[in-house]
Amino acid sequence: MTRQRALIWFKRDLRIHDHAALVAAQSHADALALFVIEPEWMESPECDASHVDHALCCLAELRIALAQIGLPLLVRVGSAVAVLSQLHQEVGYTHLLNHEETGPGWSYGRDMQVALWCKSAGVEWQEFTQTGVVRRLRNRSGWAARWQARMNAPLHLLQGGFTAATSLDLPELPTLTSLGFSPHGKKLQAAGEKAARHTLKSFLQVRGYDYRKALSSPLSAEEGCSRLSPHLAFGTLSMRTVHQATEVAIGHTPDRALAYALRGFSGRLRWHCHFMQKLEDEPDIEFHNFARAFDGLREDEFNEAHFLAWCQGRTGYPMVDACMRSLVATGWLNFRMRAMLVSFASYHLWLHWRPTGLFLARQFLDYEPGIHWSQMQMQSGTSGINTLRMYSPTKQAKDQDPVGHFIRRWVPELARVPLPYLAEP
Ligand SMILES: Cc1cc2nc3c(=O)[nH]c(=O)nc-3n(C[C@H](O)[C@H](O)[C@H](O)COP(=O)(O)OP(=O)(O)OC[C@H]3O[C@@H](n4cnc5c(N)ncnc54)[C@H](O)[C@@H]3O)c2cc1C
Repeated sequence: MTRQRALIWFKRDLRIHDHAALVAAQSHADALALFVIEPEWMESPECDASHVDHALCCLAELRIALAQIGLPLLVRVGSAVAVLSQLHQEVGYTHLLNHEETGPGWSYGRDMQVALWCKSAGVEWQEFTQTGVVRRLRNRSGWAARWQARMNAPLHLLQGGFTAATSLDLPELPTLTSLGFSPHGKKLQAAGEKAARHTLKSFLQVRGYDYRKALSSPLSAEEGCSRLSPHLAFGTLSMRTVHQATEVAIGHTPDRALAYALRGFSGRLRWHCHFMQKLEDEPDIEFHNFARAFDGLREDEFNEAHFLAWCQGRTGYPMVDACMRSLVATGWLNFRMRAMLVSFASYHLWLHWRPTGLFLARQFLDYEPGIHWSQMQMQSGTSGINTLRMYSPTKQAKDQDPVGHFIRRWVPELARVPLPYLAEP
């Protein structure tokens, strides 16, 4: 067995730029890379075929990019410990390197098992940060300054490539069908690191101009928001890369309007990590009310017919139905309309946030547990700290879709309804 052989375990960091584990592997004599397609992920109630499809597209591109720097990428299907241990027998490695993850319950359980296995196998496990999340945080004081320091730190850049001593048989990547999924039929954003960099550039140079104005309407947000969320969720861009590129764009543009718009965007990047930190600190928020005083509020009143109508975009509330159908077809929706969908489910239909949250998690290509469950609870009034916010679907339709383009596009059966009635249930 080669001493000092590193195994880089790719998870939600499917890129080669600013990748701490990849750079750390360069100080080892030999390295190889691994992605594990875990049954626990695919069978989890948050996972959708679209997520797996997107990951496979990212992996196809990543495998080529890694091969160009001399690193073979193994992709195996199985539980993490089983795959890690099998590979240890096959090729032997002394170090396991990966980024920290703030994931749902199943991934936390898996990490506990990996820690035990590494100890028993004599493998040194090293985890690196890639967001602003701080593990074992005692309190929040100084958190924002720490976030800034992490995001302003130099990017992790590779020095040359790798010389892989192990020659490995690299079977074709699995397909969606071979993994047991049916085609999802969604029209998703492009996957991979190249698409991510292109999306970032087009936003910072052109699309971001009207960001603050474009945010709220689903008509303008499609182009006017950054659309970086799936790239951050799958890690085809690091948060540090986005933060630093944004600061450079703000500093260099002579256009004050663009700088103002990008400052609004820049603040939201910190929210991303702020909400992930909440899940890191309180993993229970995925399953239980933040404020336990609200336990029992909706638990026994779940109306299955209402839930189905909401999931299918058939509630009879035009803006709600249009938003849901648009989300189901594309895997993305802007913030305000996400909030309206949840507010409608939680207040108008009095549905508990957990089943509605699982359904939405499957629809959002950018599913990020820390943001998602915090927002589900905030928009359902169970956080105990935020003011209750109920969105009127009629007001939202009138404000955000004043001439009815969005509703007519996604709810075509209403195409001929005159405008004065279009927003009404
Ligand atoms: C019920 C609900 C569930 C949500 N679930 C998710 C989720 O699973 N994953 C996710 O990335 N976002 C989630 N959001 C937050 C927000 O809607 C999305 O981040 C945003 O719409 C993504 O599009 P964008 O990248 O174009 O955003 P932009 O407006 O361009 O923002 C840039 C980035 O800032 C971060 N950001 C923006 N708004 C927020 C916010 N309110 N809270 C935390 N981070 C934010 C995201 O990383 C986003 O990609 C949720 C919001 C609600 C109301």
